[in-house]
Amino acid sequence: MSRHVLILGGTTEARRLATDLAARPGVRVTTSLAGRVTRPGALDGEVRVGGFGGAEGLADWLRAHHVDALVDATHPFAESITANAAHAARATGIPTIVLRRPSWRPAPGDRWHDVTSLPAAAEALPRLGTRVFLTTGRLGLAAFAHLTDLHFVVRSVEPPEPPLPPHTELVLARGPFTLADETELLRAHRIEVLVTKDSGGDATAAKLTAARDLGLPVVVVRRPELPQGVTAVPDVPGVLSRLGFGERFGER
Ligand code: NAP
Repeated sequence: MSRHVLILGGTTEARRLATDLAARPGVRVTTSLAGRVTRPGALDGEVRVGGFGGAEGLADWLRAHHVDALVDATHPFAESITANAAHAARATGIPTIVLRRPSWRPAPGDRWHDVTSLPAAAEALPRLGTRVFLTTGRLGLAAFAHLTDLHFVVRSVEPPEPPLPPHTELVLARGPFTLADETELLRAHRIEVLVTKDSGGDATAAKLTAARDLGLPVVVVRRPELPQGVTAVPDVPGVLSRLGFGERFGER
């Protein structure tokens, strides 16, 4: 009998974990995606798309599909699905692991301004600069829409929906981004301040180094807290070891 692992995905780590587990004998792996991105890219193992209908819906799905272990490998800012996973884990008793890449930490020379929400980031902006590189994703831009005097360069994977700030230039791109790319972008658009979520990880961290090198301030939106009593592992090997697997032979 194979063990069925459900990964709540939407991140690079979720993809890596699916690849690792799909290659193991005796493991059936399903990745669940919210369905926000129209072309999410190929994934190893099985894939299901769309919401479960809240925590109860997720719990029902876990039971109906005989899931043996749940891995919440969603993005650090995907607060609702993480709360639902914690609830469903309690309701079903199914072993659950939360995978969260570590937060970004400032290095010497960084001029970071920590805030706890997008509205707080918007509030901090006018005193930091007028040309803003906004990398908080296409959802939540409404928080900046009232800033009519600022010029925004918005980068997202897919086009954002209104409301947007009136002076918005759109850059459609998917990471990873290199330091050279990011430095060029900041220079070309004469950016004075950067806004980012504390996503963590390497794929989108080069912008922070570029901002440091250019002496630019960065508004960092810190993550929501994990649900009470939930602790996270920081990487895929941590999940594998919690699932009772070692690293596969010859693989790093
Ligand atoms: P969210 O606010 O936490 O979730 C909203 C609802 O979307 C959930 O209640 C759930 O619907 C559904 N959902 C979310 N993730 C799901 C998944 N992996 N599988 C099935 N249903 C899911 O999430 P979000 O911030 O909109 O993010 C959506 C997805 O994009 C997540 O999977 C996340 O990993 C990925 N992502 C998010 C960000 C970000 O900045 N938030 C960045 C990159 C990637 P039901 O209640 O109906 O089950």
